[in-house]
Amino acid sequence: MSARHTMGIDIGSTASKCVILKETSDTSGREIVSKALIPFGAGTSGPARVVDQALADCGYRKEDMAYILATGYGRNSVEVANFEMSELSCHAWGAHFLFPGVRTVIDIGGQDVKVLRIGKGGVLDTFVMNEKCAAGTGRFLEVMARVLEVKLEDLAQMSAQSTERVDISSTCTVFAESEVISQLARNKNRCDIINGIHRSVAGRVAGLARRVGVVKDVVMTGGVAQNSGVLLALENELKTDIVTSPLSQYAGALGAALLAFRKLGSLEA
Ligand code: ADP
Repeated sequence: MSARHTMGIDIGSTASKCVILKETSDTSGREIVSKALIPFGAGTSGPARVVDQALADCGYRKEDMAYILATGYGRNSVEVANFEMSELSCHAWGAHFLFPGVRTVIDIGGQDVKVLRIGKGGVLDTFVMNEKCAAGTGRFLEVMARVLEVKLEDLAQMSAQSTERVDISSTCTVFAESEVISQLARNKNRCDIINGIHRSVAGRVAGLARRVGVVKDVVMTGGVAQNSGVLLALENELKTDIVTSPLSQYAGALGAALLAFRKLGSLEA
């Protein structure tokens, strides 16, 4: 029998992600054969484009997928999906595939922050999410980067060059933006301001994390995990090591593709 493939699609507020998995005979039992990311999320062309791109990259067709599972904020809009599931379980499974020792997941996406406590085997125990507010999210960092005229990708290395402490005390995006503008007007160094922004995000996210309790291994997922400045600030705030992976932003889609195999299993049982 030829190896089966599943597809996981994670439609976030900011980005669409897709992962195709193949079953293998090694211990993990699954291998990533394709992944794609389109930086447009729910309500855009992102969902359709990300599926097309993931298929084109590995030369498969939708019909070759044994099961397609969609997750994320925009999961209802994925017509090709056989099933939809909340992103909480998908993130837990994705993080567990990347780091089998995971007990806490800190996920910072475009518009929300989630902290998950994970039990044995990648099963979700409990979680906490931010309220409907951009504080501590990728959106907050995007707004600050725009005011500072800095690329999102450059925030981490600029933050590392900070030599003087500048505090950004407002967690509200609108007030923090005004605070950044007034620090710039006072000729404060942009690297110091960025460092202050990262500490502000870390303070906000750490407050959420403490509500569920932080147990090692702590894994950071979501697009913001690529910003090592936020990761370092969170490590300092929580006084713990935090690990991440180049696949951090795909954790939800990866988890969806893994859960698609479970769905297949239950259909066959
Ligand atoms: P969602 O699922 O809510 O769409 P993601 O987990 O895909 O969110 O993350 C999107 C966020 O990731 C963006 O808001 C952006 O701030 C951040 N991001 C994406 N790429 C980078 C990068 N290279 N460096 C820093 N931040 C990034």
